[in-house]
Amino acid sequence: MEHPKEVRTYCPKCKKYTKHKVKLAAKGSRDRTLAKGNRKHKRKLEGYGGKRRGKKVPRKQAKPQKIVLACDECKKKHERIVGSRTKKKLELIAKT
Ligand SMILES: [Zn+2]
Repeated sequence: MEHPKEVRTYCPKCKKYTKHKVKLAAKGSRDRTLAKGNRKHKRKLEGYGGKRRGKKVPRKQAKPQKIVLACDECKKKHERIVGSRTKKKLELIAKT
């Protein structure tokens, strides 16, 4: 999947159409694996006795592709989802 590196789109701060630079949004989970609750839950799962808390959540196959749009005039950034739930990787291309 391809997406241009620069787009002209609406900026909510300037309240008009301006040029935006496009970047891929950073991936990665925000789960804190060393948070107290997570450590406690892990300890409970050890040994016999099966699962203690929480049901198994079915995993979705793909995640929505996100881009970050940065306004050229006010430098404000906002996100946009391009094509929801696809396994295709997003590529940024310079428009000819
Ligand atoms: Zn702006």
